[in-house]
Amino acid sequence: MNPVPIHAFNPGPITGAGNWTWLIPGRVPTLIDAGTGDLRHLDALTAALDGAALAQVIVTHSHSDHAAGAQAIAERFPGVRFLKMPWPDRDPKWGVTWTAIGDGDAVPAGDTTLTAVHTPGHAPDHLCFWHPESRTLFGGDLAVKGTTVWIPTSLQGDLTDYLASLERVLALAPARILPAHGDVIDDPNTVLKGYLSHRQEREIQVISALRSGNTEPDAIVEHIYRGLKERLIPMAKESVLAQLLKLEREGRARRDGEAWHMIDA
Ligand SMILES: [Zn+2]
Repeated sequence: MNPVPIHAFNPGPITGAGNWTWLIPGRVPTLIDAGTGDLRHLDALTAALDGAALAQVIVTHSHSDHAAGAQAIAERFPGVRFLKMPWPDRDPKWGVTWTAIGDGDAVPAGDTTLTAVHTPGHAPDHLCFWHPESRTLFGGDLAVKGTTVWIPTSLQGDLTDYLASLERVLALAPARILPAHGDVIDDPNTVLKGYLSHRQEREIQVISALRSGNTEPDAIVEHIYRGLKERLIPMAKESVLAQLLKLEREGRARRDGEAWHMIDA
């Protein structure tokens, strides 16, 4: 398998330098993730296909930087199929017909077969794609080298699910992760374990903030991320909220209006 990275030309505050989509050439030319429909992405894809007909696009999850380009791809490459794990509230807005895939499904791609791995947390419908022969994982937004992954609780992100997804991928022992953002991860074990310990530290900080009387998400953010730039505060708040919801789900914290409290044993 020889995946070709094709940039989606969509830099921005959330996407960083922009997304990577991955073309797997071969008998079933397959693109992983759709980008946003930028003409330069479509042109780069056309060039990389070198006359071959794109057979299908597999989308890792229904966030716009991964899915919004579906319609533009459908117009440029007639007959292409679109596959993803269903997220019924969001999928219709991308303007194509989706073929449903789910955990454990074998998906032919290029001259080989990938296995879908359901990895919710960043998004409820998040799939990674596993190629056992090369121990390669197409990681979507599971991991981004050099930074942590956003868990948007307002968009059904879930930290408990995310931690379980990290453990699940760790158990696969991938040799490399080809992500949708940033550099290829060639030390997945280190990066994923780093994520787990980072979230553990965060949890300790959130608990200590609660115990010291900072009970509202804004106050907790202030307590943990002192001097954080204004524009980063909403994301920090999401991250704190994800942590609080995890504690609530574990029966360790409870909510009382805007205020949160630890439940002491
Ligand atoms: Zn995403």
